[in-house]
Amino acid sequence: MKHTSLKAAIHQITLLLSFYRGPPSKPTGHPIRCTVSKISNGSILHEIGHALGLHHEHQRPDRDDFVIIDPSVKKDKDYKVIPEGRKFGAYDCKSVMHYGKIPGKISSKGSACAGMGQRKILTMGDIAAAAAIPTFPFDTICGMIRSKSGNGYLLVETRGGVVYFGDALFCGSRGGQHLDTPVCGIAPTPSGNGYWLVAEDGGVFSFGDAQFFDSAIDSTRP
Ligand SMILES: [Zn+2]
Repeated sequence: MKHTSLKAAIHQITLLLSFYRGPPSKPTGHPIRCTVSKISNGSILHEIGHALGLHHEHQRPDRDDFVIIDPSVKKDKDYKVIPEGRKFGAYDCKSVMHYGKIPGKISSKGSACAGMGQRKILTMGDIAAAAAIPTFPFDTICGMIRSKSGNGYLLVETRGGVVYFGDALFCGSRGGQHLDTPVCGIAPTPSGNGYWLVAEDGGVFSFGDAQFFDSAIDSTRP
């Protein structure tokens, strides 16, 4: 392995882990196995993704719009659709959690899944999905909102992390970022596709379809 690619791998892992604080609430127990001769940045990231609880992208229920799975492997554990999985964002052919073309098993549907199977960098979708993994132990929880359907909810931590359960939509958080004062509340948008967080100093953070109007920060405060 080249020194530069090792550095890149460490950078990518650091990036992934910086969005991830604490072990997952439901550890998968997935062992990280890497054959030294086949090790690559992306393969390590792929296995870490599993360990954090991410499934293969090509096992999403909407995968048939993008890839062709050979009938002979449709029931295999690495190819079957996982209906109970949680779709996160748009289908991401370039995700490190997506397989590349394997003759007789998986291929792109025409050009619908160009670039599938890359193992170089995390996509924005990979980073967003990793950031949305519920973490445990949680910081002090200070607020809660229900999902639009009522079949889920979001909790917010004083340090700005947002944790989703059920069908609640995670649209981002301030977890892992500097905050001048703790977060103390969360409010949903009417659509259920966004929310605002408010901090003790009056700072407001908007996510998803929530619009930002202004904060109530008193700049004269010491
Ligand atoms: Zn895998």
